[in-house]
Formats: sequence, C-alpha cells, structure tokens
Amino acid sequence: MAPGHMIPMIDIAKLLARRGVIATIITTPHNALPQQATIHRAAASGLPIRLLQLGHDNLLRQPRLEESLAATVPKPNCLISDVFHAWTCDVATKLDIPRIVFHGTCCFSLLCLTNLYDSDIVDSIESDEERFLVPNLPHAIEICRSKLPALVKKGHRDEIHEAERSAYGVLVNGFEELEPQYAELYCEARRGKAWCVGAVSLVNKEESDIVERGNKASIDKNKCLEWLDSREPNSVVYVCLGSLCRLNAKQLMEIGMALEASEHPFVWVFSGEKYKELENWLDREGFEERNKERGLVIRGWAPQVMILSHRSVGGFLTHCGWNSTLEAVCEGVPMLTWPMYAEQFLNEKVIVEVLKVGYSLGVGGEEKIDQVVVKKAEIERGVRRLMDKGSEECEEMRRRVEEIGEMGRRAMEEGGSSHFNLSLFIQDIVDQMSKKNTL
Ligand code: UDP
Repeated sequence: MAPGHMIPMIDIAKLLARRGVIATIITTPHNALPQQATIHRAAASGLPIRLLQLGHDNLLRQPRLEESLAATVPKPNCLISDVFHAWTCDVATKLDIPRIVFHGTCCFSLLCLTNLYDSDIVDSIESDEERFLVPNLPHAIEICRSKLPALVKKGHRDEIHEAERSAYGVLVNGFEELEPQYAELYCEARRGKAWCVGAVSLVNKEESDIVERGNKASIDKNKCLEWLDSREPNSVVYVCLGSLCRLNAKQLMEIGMALEASEHPFVWVFSGEKYKELENWLDREGFEERNKERGLVIRGWAPQVMILSHRSVGGFLTHCGWNSTLEAVCEGVPMLTWPMYAEQFLNEKVIVEVLKVGYSLGVGGEEKIDQVVVKKAEIERGVRRLMDKGSEECEEMRRRVEEIGEMGRRAMEEGGSSHFNLSLFIQDIVDQMSKKNTL
C-alpha cells in the first residue's frame, strides 16, 4: 500500500467511476489518510466512488476483507488488487469474481520480469555484475543480476508469481503508443487479458486534484507556481527521488552541491523529517539563502504533477519509479535517471534505450544505504547535459518526449487507445458476469 501503488490505483478507481462503475477503494485507515481528501472530493463531485477502511497500519487480513466484500451491496463483480497482495487471489476465488492484478509498472518491465523468471538465466549467472541479454525481447537489452528485483529469482516469493499467473487479467498504467511492441507481446503473454489504460494520472483535471494528488502538498501552491512562473521555459530541473527515497544525508548533500554548481534553476524535493543531518548542513552552509533566487527546496510532499506540467520545468532527475516516469513523459519532460531498487533499472532501460527520452547517471545496482553512490561532479555533469539548451541531441530528445506525451494525452481522450481499452476491460467483466448469470 505504498504511495507509488495507492496513487495510481485511486486514479484507476476514478477512471472506472467516470464510466458509471461503482468503485470501492479498500485500504487501512493509516494508508487511507493521505488519500481521503481526494476520494471525498471525487465522491462529492457525484462519482460513484467510496472508501472502505479495514485493518490497521499496513495490515489488512484476508478474513476481514472476505467478510466485508461478502456483505457489500451491490455484490462486487471484480477485484483489482496489487501484485504483492497475492492472497487476494483466494478472496476473489471464494467470491467467484475475477481478480485483476495491478503491478504499477510498464509492459516492457513486465515482459522482462516474466521472461527472466521463466528462463533460468538469473540463477545460472555466476556473478551479480555479469551482464546478460534479457531473453525473447525485440530489443537487445542487457542487464545484470544486481540491477534486478529479487522477485525474478525462483524460490523467492513464488506465491506472488503463482497468484499473478492465475489472475484473470492485468491493468497496466501505460498506453499502447508508448511501447507498441511490448504492449502487444505482453498482452499476448496474458492471453489477451492485459489492458493498457494509462496514463492514469491524466484523469485528474481539476487543479485541487492535481495539487493534492497522493497527499497534501507541503508547499503553498501559489508560492510554488509564482516561483515557477518567474523562470524561463524549460530552464528548471526538478529533483525528486520518489515517495520512499532512502538516500542518506551525505548523498543528499552531494545532490545539493551539484545543483548549486550546475548553475541551473532547480526544485529539489526531499522528506524533511528524516534528514536532520542534511538540515544542519543546509543551515550551516547557508545553502538556501545562497540559492534563494535559483532554487526552491520542498521538504515533504511535492505537488509533482503540477510541477512537471509547468512550462518552466525542462528536466527531471528521477529514481525511475514508473509513476514518475510516465508523469514526466506525459508532460514532455526529459529525464536524468538514477534508479535504485525494484524494477527501476528496467524502467531506466525504457527511458534511455527504448524511448530515448533521458540520460543515465550510470549508477550500479547495489544499494549502499549509508554511502555516497554518486558524487557531486557526476550529478553536476548529468544535470548540465540534461539541461543543455544549445545541444541538438537535447533538443531532439525534448521533441521526442513531447511527441510521446502528446500521444499519451490523446490515448486518454474519447477515441484514444487507453479510453477504448478501459471500455474493453469493463465490457469483459460485464460479459463474465452475464455468462455466470446464465449458467
Ligand atoms: N509523488 C508526489 N510528491 C512527492 C513524491 C512523490 O506527488 O513529493 C508522487 C509521484 O507523482 C508519483 C508517486 O508519488 O505519482 C511516486 O511513485 P513512483 O512510482 O514514481 O515511485 P515510488 O515512490 O513508488 O518509488
């Protein structure tokens, strides 16, 4: 129930509710809290959407969910659940309704993970750093074990794979035009039951939904917009390394120094509570005072989509979480990639090698929680390269990402591929229901 999974699932619930489907969002009170305002606003606007809070902290138990779904009126017709909640497969079976899996990543990464798990290649490689080709892909994609999630190894949480395989279908936060070959291959691998319905963040049209998406922003919206408005188009680099960034304070200091040295305007987001040491450093150095003209520091939750959509933002230093990646693509913002864990190294491949809408910082796979992994000079070089207005390569990359972003926006409109796929998905579930009722 991490934000990176909850946020797009709430967007999916909104998309479904807009089509008249009654969508019930189930989560624990702890995880519901940051999302409540958004859900209530959607319900107040007349959408058939509701929030059901069960369990406590991060824990939602199977019997409680079964009990509650069995008592829900009208009876649910389908259960969409996160890939990590393998146990929801049994809940759906007991209720005799299809389970749809949500992974939160793209078809490229899903196909890589499927092909890797199905082949024995990951287990047969001798060292973590040995590079090998991901089997059966249209592109020659090389990776090494240290850059892959543990999930690709057999014997590691196999129940997730089993539940995933036995699920009725998959909803993907992406659009067909983004990765046509991979969307087709992945859909084939799922016997036609995979639907690309994104980019789901684009369901949010109202300013309040954009500003408060995921949580209440910890900066005043007007202050943020005023600052962005005062910058040249495409001049600002936005730095946010995800909702769960685990970088240590020393690494964050390197980022701060690099941003200052790069001489480009920046918006730098980090979670303030965790980084006392960083705060002391910022204070001691007079960092903010010195950079007050050129930099905006956001401690806590940033209104990311609002920032990315601003015309002054011209580059994004990202950890390659899939939501962030897709949000940047849809807003036409090129990226500098710094993947850290999970499938982020695969997403980096999509950005840099498949779509060619970003540069890689070239970080290795091993997570070193308390060390400096990327030095100031490398970050500075990366930022300068990304933001270099005079370079033909950069301009070409910007044109490409803007073009793909435009396709993403069209995909979500009536007549677009994702809009159509959502209709197909809903129809498929309706057909399943009527089949069951005529039996
Ligand atoms: N996000 C945000 N403000 C923040 C940090 C993150 O709005 O300060 C949102 C971001 O727009 C994205 C999600 O949180 O929708 C993060 O998901 P992603 O898959 O990019 O990375 P994760 O946080 O799961 O690693």
